[in-house]
Order: sequence, then C-alpha cells, then structure tokens
Amino acid sequence: MGRVIQLQVGGFDKNFSYLVIGKTNESILIDPTGDAGIIENAIKENKTKVKLILFTHSHPDHCELAEHFSSQGIEIFFPKNEDLGKITSFDLNGMKIECIATPGHTKDSVVYIIGKNIFTGDTLFVRGVGTTAYGGDDFLLEKTLAFLFELDPTLALWPGHNYGGISSTLKEALNNSHIRPSKKTHELIKKMVEEYNLKHSTKKKF
Ligand SMILES: [Zn+2]
Repeated sequence: MGRVIQLQVGGFDKNFSYLVIGKTNESILIDPTGDAGIIENAIKENKTKVKLILFTHSHPDHCELAEHFSSQGIEIFFPKNEDLGKITSFDLNGMKIECIATPGHTKDSVVYIIGKNIFTGDTLFVRGVGTTAYGGDDFLLEKTLAFLFELDPTLALWPGHNYGGISSTLKEALNNSHIRPSKKTHELIKKMVEEYNLKHSTKKKF
C-alpha cells in the first residue's frame, strides 16, 4: 500500500524527496528538501493532499523545506534519539507507517516502512552507507545494519541520495552495505559540507 513517487530535487547532492500517496489520495512527504517547485508540482499533478511530513534524520540537507511546508499547517514529525528498533507508528486513513529507530549515520536516524517499501535516508544507499563523520557512530551503525538484515529482504529500498542507484531491494542494498566512503570521498564530503554551511549560514548547519 502506498504509491511511491520519487522526486529528484537536487539539494546538497543528488537528494531525493518522496511523496507516498494512500488510497484516499492523501499523502505523506518524506525529507522535503532541494527544489520546492519540483515537490509542489508533483503534489499538484497527483491532486494529492499532504497530511504528514516525515524526516529520516536531522541533517540539514534533508530538512531544507521543513519550514516551507510546516508553515502551510501540515503536521510534521522529526525523529528523536532513540534505541535501535524503537517503533513509532502512524496511520493515515488506513496507510500504516512504521518509523523504526536505526541510529548510526546520526543518532536520530530512522527508517520508515510503508507497505512493501522502506525509506532509509542516509542509513543505507543502493551502494554503501552514509558517513558517520557528522554526528554519527560507527558502532551503532554496525548494529543497525545487522538489524536491517532481519527485515523482509524483498522490501523496495528508497534511499536519501542517488549513490549507486535510485532504488533496489533491501537485500541488494544490504549486500553492498560493506561499502564505506573512501578517504577521497570523505575529503570531498568535508569540502561540500563546508561550502554548504557557508551558503546556508543563517540556517541549520551540519
Ligand atoms: Zn545525512
């Protein structure tokens, strides 16, 4: 249940936002960021009403449009630091949403399971995992990955960035989860984060 619309919104680096539309044409929006026009067009084209906004973690490149949409009176959910596996449930007119705490990339990282879909933010990409260098914890990430191996491997995985692909099964992504950002990638990310923080100097920083 839940029709997934993946939006390539640009943002910090090949970010995705997601619109998940339920039976009643009400929808949730995950990680609204990047180009607001792309998201607003998708809402319009699909004639859907967004009822709830969810975030996979608090890194600023996933929450750029939090205010933009919450100021329109849409309910908003920000995850908090929780122990691995803690579940928070939502029900949007029969569309069941499970938020599962998966700390590692950041202490407040979560995944969302909606029907046969899992939205993983920066916890797990199609190829590899997000860096723990910005508020994360390597030990927790390893525990989280072991936990994800226990979930249904056929779930469709929808990541927070296009790193190695736009989507896969959970199984395929987990098979690539040993891939860690290289030293070169780390240096590149550091540079990009510095530039991002300068550009967004009045907003939340990494
Ligand atoms: Zn992140």
